[in-house]
Amino acid sequence: MKSYSSATLLIQNGTLVTHESTLEADLLLQGERIRAVGRGLPIEHDTIVIEAEGCYVLPGVIDAHTHIQLDTGIYRTADDWFTGTRAAACGGVTTVVDFATQFPGQTLREGVEARQEQACDAVIDYAFHVMVTDLPPGREGELSELIELGAPSVKLYTTYRPNYYADDATLLRLMRACADLGLLPLVHCENDALVTAQTEALSAAGETGWLYHGRSRPALAEQEAIQRVLFLAEAADCPIHICHCSTARSVALIVEARENGQVVTCETCPQYLLLDHVAYEGAEPWRYILQPPLRDPDELDRLWALVEAGAVDLVATDHCDYSWAQKVAQDDFTRTPGGLPGMETLLPLLYTYGFAEGWLTLPRLVALLSTNPARIWGLWPRKGALLPGSDADIVIYDPRPDTTILSEKLHHAAGYTPYEGFRTLGHVKATISRGRIIYREGRFIGRKGRGRFLARAGVLF
Ligand SMILES: [Zn+2]
Repeated sequence: MKSYSSATLLIQNGTLVTHESTLEADLLLQGERIRAVGRGLPIEHDTIVIEAEGCYVLPGVIDAHTHIQLDTGIYRTADDWFTGTRAAACGGVTTVVDFATQFPGQTLREGVEARQEQACDAVIDYAFHVMVTDLPPGREGELSELIELGAPSVKLYTTYRPNYYADDATLLRLMRACADLGLLPLVHCENDALVTAQTEALSAAGETGWLYHGRSRPALAEQEAIQRVLFLAEAADCPIHICHCSTARSVALIVEARENGQVVTCETCPQYLLLDHVAYEGAEPWRYILQPPLRDPDELDRLWALVEAGAVDLVATDHCDYSWAQKVAQDDFTRTPGGLPGMETLLPLLYTYGFAEGWLTLPRLVALLSTNPARIWGLWPRKGALLPGSDADIVIYDPRPDTTILSEKLHHAAGYTPYEGFRTLGHVKATISRGRIIYREGRFIGRKGRGRFLARAGVLF
């Protein structure tokens, strides 16, 4: 059998899709880079030809919001950097932007370096946003280290006391520092007081079963926090990214801020486009415990319409691979770890329910899953592009096989998927990471530790 480690690959007869257009052309990869795009490209004696007739050839997916090997101090996800990124690769994801946490007593640099050590088993490239948890007044200058470290984005939370929560004064202070230094904050927005009060009221009434999870974190809490964060960002003159918008009004608030001249980007996730809170009344509500929770069924089409209109910049998964056993341990939403696995199913779901359903064009699909995250997070044009000189990170998607999502066929550690039984049009045929085929026809063939840390540049808005 031919080795697929050759230096030159030619992807032939596919339809190339970029964020701008589709194009019938071949793609020549040499070493770790894209060398040429065109027809009739030369085949040399050592060139391996990959036949992509009938398939789409896309820049590799960049999942810009993941939590691989997450340890919150209370729960630890079941995956590690090898198994986590292997699942990603099997879904056509070639880059993740995950998180480095500043744990108590650590400097920002120590937090990032510790995370780099953990991530060294990755099979695809990775970068980090930094969860800044302890930076008292007077120490804001330390944020400049994040630029040197190539991790120029700061994750802030308006909820989760006591570990991650930042009060309004802290948010404003850190946003001002980020604006000064050219760092981009990304914010998890839920009003902590509203969520806490609602959770306490449900607990007092004995209503802590999974059924009540959605009610504990109302849409109002998300919308209020987004509005406040936008207001503070405007006061700080700081560009801002809003994470995992789960309601149409969340996005509408962002559109309004943009119309007023603010620089704001935002994301949503497949779970908010495809699942709704009726799932909490079903037989297996534990599958859907996450924050923010699933919303009203009416939200789905409204959110898709905003994605269609271009109001949402990117779709990421917020992947968080808690195991089935961790999820079902107690029928109590206050004691069930929140988060869903999702990297491996992102592209097939967005292709099927976004493109095939008519909400997205193929170029928009590529923009949401690859080009925009690359641009917003300082990876463009190295990633997210099919340009000569860009990294040869490619996914070949075959839209023909009628496929059903089944957890037993997936590669993540959780042992379940919230999309069990969902039908998809097609599947990922092959994934190429920096010129190497790492997944092909159902088989992972990558290598542990080949992924590299991507030092990102700050983006000047
Ligand atoms: Zn998250």
